[in-house]
Parts: sequence; C-alpha cells; structure tokens
Amino acid sequence: MKPHEPPDELRALRAEVAQFRRVCNAVPVAIAYYERVGNVCRYANQGYAQMFGFDQQSILGHTAEEVIGAAAARAIQPQVDKVLREIKGIRYERQLPGPDGRMRSIEVHLLPHADESGVAIGAFVLITDITRHREDEAALRESEERLSKFMLASAEGIVFHKGGFITDINPPVMALMGYSAEQMMGRSTLDFIAPDERAKVAAVIAAGHEIGYDSVALHADGSRVPVEFIVRTMHYQGEKLRMTIVRDIRDRVDAQARIHHLAHHDALTGLPNRVAFIERANVLLAQAQARGQSLALLFVDLDHFKRVNDSLGHPVGDMLLQTVAKRITGTLREADLVARFGGDEFVLLLAGAASEAAVAEVAGKLVAAVGAPLQVEGASISVTPSIGVALFPAHGSSAGELIKHADTAMYQAKAHGRAGYEFFRPAMAEAARAELALESRLAQAVVDQEFVLHYQPQLRISDGALLGVEALVRWQHPDKGLMAPDQFIPLAEARRLILPIGQWVLHTALRQAVRWHHEGLAPVPVAVNLSELQFQSRGFVQSIQQALADTGAQGDMLELELTERMLMDDLDAVRDTLSQLRALGVRLAVDDFGTGYTSLKHLKELPLDRLKIDRCFVQGLPADAGSAAIAAAIVQMGRGLGLTVLAEGVETAAQREHLLALGCEAQQGLLSCAPMPAAQLADWLRQRAVQA
Ligand code: C2E
Ligand code: MG
Ligand code: MG
Repeated sequence: MKPHEPPDELRALRAEVAQFRRVCNAVPVAIAYYERVGNVCRYANQGYAQMFGFDQQSILGHTAEEVIGAAAARAIQPQVDKVLREIKGIRYERQLPGPDGRMRSIEVHLLPHADESGVAIGAFVLITDITRHREDEAALRESEERLSKFMLASAEGIVFHKGGFITDINPPVMALMGYSAEQMMGRSTLDFIAPDERAKVAAVIAAGHEIGYDSVALHADGSRVPVEFIVRTMHYQGEKLRMTIVRDIRDRVDAQARIHHLAHHDALTGLPNRVAFIERANVLLAQAQARGQSLALLFVDLDHFKRVNDSLGHPVGDMLLQTVAKRITGTLREADLVARFGGDEFVLLLAGAASEAAVAEVAGKLVAAVGAPLQVEGASISVTPSIGVALFPAHGSSAGELIKHADTAMYQAKAHGRAGYEFFRPAMAEAARAELALESRLAQAVVDQEFVLHYQPQLRISDGALLGVEALVRWQHPDKGLMAPDQFIPLAEARRLILPIGQWVLHTALRQAVRWHHEGLAPVPVAVNLSELQFQSRGFVQSIQQALADTGAQGDMLELELTERMLMDDLDAVRDTLSQLRALGVRLAVDDFGTGYTSLKHLKELPLDRLKIDRCFVQGLPADAGSAAIAAAIVQMGRGLGLTVLAEGVETAAQREHLLALGCEAQQGLLSCAPMPAAQLADWLRQRAVQA
C-alpha cells in the first residue's frame, strides 16, 4: 500500500459518504442540520441550500436567522425550543416564497439530535413542498362548496346516493317528498319510490345507467308523485356516487292526462268517443272471447234529432244530448261501455249479454228511457231512439264489424217506424251492400243525368179542365231499368244527392212547360216535388228564381209541392220563405196532406194555395167511413182557409163522384191518366184538345 493512498477503510467510508450525499440530494425533501450552539447550519442538502438561495458549501456556518430570514426564524423559534426541550419531533406547516415569487406551502419536520446523555445538541430539518397537495385540497373543497351551493340553489330536486342509499338531498326534494333531510338521509332510495315502480328504479341503479326516465315517487302522505329522474354517475374521492335530478312532472302528467281525456272523450257529454270506445271494446271482446262469453253492441240513433236542433236551437239540442247520455248510462250497468260517436249517435257495449231476450229487454228499456218526455223552456219534447243490435260472437268478431252491423240494424229499426230496436240479420248486410252499390251508382247517375221526368195531369173534377201536371222523377238505371222515386229518393236524401237531382228536376220541368207552350199547347203549369233538404238549403228561394230566369218560365207556371214536415219548423222563417216564393208568382201546395201533423195555426198563417189529400184517404172512398170523414174534413178545412183541394190517387169513378159531392175541386190519378213521358203527355193533351 502506498503511503499517500488512504487505507481501504477510509476509501470505503468516502464512498459511503458520496453515496449518502447523492441520496440526500436526490430525495424530494430539503434536509438540513443545525447545531444547537449558535443555531448554525452544519449540513444542508442541495434542495435545502437552493431553497434559501445558497449552495451546499456556502450555507454552512450560517445561522438559521441568516438562512431563512429574521421574521421566519422568529416565527418558528417556539417550535425549535419545544423540540430541543422535549427532545421530540415536531411537524408544522408554513408559507414560503418560491424562486418564482409564488408562495409555496411547505411541511416542516424538526427532529431533535441528542448526545448520549440525552441532551439536545442540534436539530434536523426536513422540508417537503406540499403546495400541490394543498392546492388539490383547496380545489376539492371549492368544488364541494360549489356543489352544495348549487344543490341549495337548484330549483330541481337533487339526490346523491351511494349503492342505493341516500347520502345527500337538497330542499326541493324535501318539499316535493314531504320529508325532512334527517328522515331521508341514509335510507334506501327505493323507500321513496311507488311500489309498482321499484323494480324499474332498482334495475337502473343496478345497471348504473346514465339515463333520464319517468317514474313515480311516494310522498310522505302516501300519495303518488309523477317525477322524471335524470341519473348520472360521479366519481368522488375514489368512490362512485350516483346523482339523481328529481323533476316534478305533475303538471306535465296532468296535461298529458287532460290531452288524453280530450282525445278520448266527447266534450259535450263527457262520454268516451269513437276512438276510446273501439280501443276499449276490442279489449273487452278479447276477454269475452277467452272466457267464451257473448256481448251485445247497440247502435243508438235519435229519431228526427235534427228537428230539435233546427226548431229549438243548438243549446236545446245539446241539452237534450246530455240528458240522453245520462239516461243511457242510468239504464245500463257499471260494466257496460257507452260512447258518443258524434251527432246523435251513441254506441253501447253490454258486458255479459246472456241471451238475446236479455239484450232485447235492455234495448226496450233504453227506448223507453231515452224517449221519455223532457221539459224544455216550458214545452215538453220527446225524442225517441232507433236501436240496432249486433251480437258477439254471432254477428262479428271485431268492434268495427259489430258497429257496422249494429248500424245496419239501426237503419232497419228506422225503416220499421223508428222508436224501437232491431237485431242484426245477415240479410240486412246484403241489403246494406246493395244500398251501398246503389249509392255509388246514384252519384254517377247525377253526373250522367240518367233521370227522366214523367208528368201526370191534374184535372178539375167538375168539368175535367186541365189545371196542371205534376212532374215525377224516375231513374233510367242502365241495368235495373226505370226505377220509381221511392226506390232512390230516400237514399238521395240521406246522401244529399237530392240537391243536384232536385235542381235538375226543376229546370227540366220548367223547360218542358215552356217548350209545350212554344209547341202551341195551352200553358200548363208544372207541379214540382220538393225535398226537405232543398227547402232548407241556403239560397233556396234564389235557386227557384234562377231556374225561372234560366228557362224563361213565368212564376205562375210553377207550383211547388211541400210536405207538412216543412211547415212545422219555425213559423216566421217558413212564412218568410213562402212569401218570397209567392212574390215570384209561384203557387204552393201541401202534398200528402193528412199524413203529417201541421198545426191549424200554421195552415192559417202561411201563404198556401192548395192541399193535396193523400192517396190513402182517397183509397177507401166511398165505403170506408173513416176515410170519408177525413176527406170531408180536409175539403171543409181547405175551403175554410181559401185553399183549393186536390185528391191524389183517384182510381175509380165512385171515388170521383164522392169527392165531387164533398166539394173537392181537383183530382189526379189513374182514373184520368197515369204519369207519362213528356212526348206522350203532349199527344194526350192534343187529343183532348181535338175532342173538346
Ligand atoms: P207524390 O208527390 O205523392 O206523387 C204521387 C204519386 O202517386 C206518384 O208516385 C204517382 O205515380 C202516384 N199515383 C198517381 N196516381 C195514382 C193512382 O191513381 N193510384 C196510385 N196508387 N198511385 C198513383 P211516384 O211517381 O212513384 O212518386 C212517389 C213519390 O216520390 C212522390 O209522391 C213524391 O213524394 C216523390 N217524388 C217524385 N218525384 C220527385 C221529385 O222530383 N222530387 C222529390 N223530392 N220527390 C219526388
Ligand atoms: Mg207530389
Ligand atoms: Mg202525394
């Protein structure tokens, strides 16, 4: 070993010291050692020295005051004293400006160094920069504060829960649920959910879905509160928290319910409407099907409801419909279904209709209940129903099919004199189909003008003078041949096709009258039959005026045949219309007189010209006493009112003699002439002229 070389031991020691220094400089802790005597720095690692603006050599020998500054030294002096006195480590934090001037948070550990006798001779200082840590903490605190402020400020309910247990709620939730915070915290969220909704909510929690969905909360008072939940998962302090926004949707649910109600109910009567009925009926039908039960569907239509509306006004009509609705529901059982299909149509589904006889009994009761008189503004009115019945499963399997068939049966009830009920029979469907076919054909006939007029003379009984001719329409059906008006007029009226047909009749009849006159025949007035719909149509008088103008016919060439029905409406309105027609020179006759219920007052006050005794009273003459009495009365009344009286359907000479004796002025019927086409009638007229 060379003398200037250190011994091995020393070399090893130096290596160890170097190693120790490297470690001390590498750790992210500033380390220093101060001697008690003089408070002088005897060791500092690189980090410590740089922290206070020294290097590792230059710092040595400086006092603490010199290193960290007088103020800081003073501030920590009590800590230092304590460590030296008690020989116990201590930890404190303080602020220190960093090299960039920003304040740093440092954590300081002071550790005492004692000699063998236990006397403190110095202290180690270990400083850790905890700025980042403190900043993170502050940020967290801030965000917590923000969240809690937000929760308090939010108008919407917010619930935090962990694993389904509530950890936090805000005031809106308490207000919505009727609980205090204490009553809710720590409890399972499911405790506050309506029982029938729990499975759904539990599934969302279990799946950890982040979704929004509607549910129902359970209020402290046990009531159900419709809510919307918007759920989010939040990671907080290493834990998964669920945040649920609880939105009160009672208003929305109420509005939806109202909209649903409006869409499914008739506003006037509060009954379900067609949509609701069909929905519900199909459910009941499926149930009945499964149980092997039968049901009955009733289609109720009020007879002549339009008259009430027209003559008494819509408010009265509405009131009547409400009363009818009440009477129907009052007659049925709870389980039965009642709906208003609009207008004067009601549709019923009788649950557990045991037998046809049982259904017939209910239908009979309905006819009586609905038709019972009702007091309106001091007057008693009564509107009877016509009811069609279709049975399930015999007449159909779906609500739609049953409704269609009950509707068909209802028409049958109307045809059979109204105020009654009729069960569906398959033959009716056939008839309905035929009518449907006829209907579409009729619409085409209007376009193609497949109608012809036949004319029947009206003669004075005493001398056979020609008073006029009645125009009677026929349909030249391409397949069925010439069809009488009874076969298509009712359909035309029901489908409003009577309006264009009526116009055509009016024009054609007037044109014909003008033509006959041009052909050199004596002027022959034509009588044209009117339908109620025409009479009530807007601009009716003008349409007559227009027809006269278009054809060049004088007003006195036209006689209009009204029905008693038309005279029953509002007296002032009818009088007004008739007066306007009269002013055009048009004559007015009451057709089929005696079959309706015209009041004497109306007859007396309306500007009329003629009564036509209905054929049914002429038929029995002269033998039938009843007919004779009625015919005599009509003639008497007509003369009393200054009207001419014409007897319809005079077929025999005996009838003619009898009518002549009664003082009846005119006749129309097979005895003198059947209705015939225009050309034929012209021949008939010429022949008469020659004979005369
Ligand atoms: P109405 O106005 O009472 O016409 C008289 C009906 O009696 C006609 O039947 C006529 O052919 C028939 N008739 C005439 N003489 C006799 C007789 O001696 N014995 C018998 N049994 N019947 C006789 P038609 O042509 O079948 O017309 C039936 C009904 O159709 C008419 O009854 C009228 O209410 C209606 N009608 C006819 N044409 C029109 C029209 O252009 N418009 C409207 N709205 N209705 C019409
Ligand atoms: Mg007539
Ligand atoms: Mg008649």
